[in-house]
Amino acid sequence: MNSGDLLNELKKLMAEPEGQDDKRLAPQPDLSEVLYVDPAPGGEPRNCKNCVLWGSSDSKCSLMSIETDTTADSVCGYHVFGQPSKRHIQFDGISPVNPKFAGLIAVKGGTACQNCNWISPGDDEEDGVCLAVTKRKKQAHVHPKGCCTRWTPKQSIPDPKAT
Ligand code: SF4
Ligand code: SF4
Repeated sequence: MNSGDLLNELKKLMAEPEGQDDKRLAPQPDLSEVLYVDPAPGGEPRNCKNCVLWGSSDSKCSLMSIETDTTADSVCGYHVFGQPSKRHIQFDGISPVNPKFAGLIAVKGGTACQNCNWISPGDDEEDGVCLAVTKRKKQAHVHPKGCCTRWTPKQSIPDPKAT
């Protein structure tokens, strides 16, 4: 089995939980359980550079502590679409949001279904089939520029023959 076949087998296992023998394995989550969001208005993936809570010149988030670095490509679950400020806003009397609690992730180039390990081609360029999340008990259809909390970088499985 080459590395491509191995990856396809792994994806099939992720996609068909009912076929797995081990009933202790949790079922795949529904789209509503993984904070899936469609792209931002205008069609781009959501990230700090199109969030109103971002300071574009100081690269800080208005909800997080001053020690927390964010980049234009970062994103978290508190994203609010809109034009960032030049500098982040300092709200009086709020406790900074914990970046882990917010699900802050920083990946060069940003995170979206189109660069997630679990996307599979859909009906057209605005459609993909997710192999890790379901909707009404079938694999979910997602927008390639949408994203969810199960985002996973594309994995490269080493070719066993190469070792
Ligand atoms: S970290 Fe989250 S809330 Fe803060 S600017 Fe980025 S997307 Fe917006
Ligand atoms: S392709 Fe990845 S990011 Fe998109 S919904 Fe599926 S798991 Fe989430």
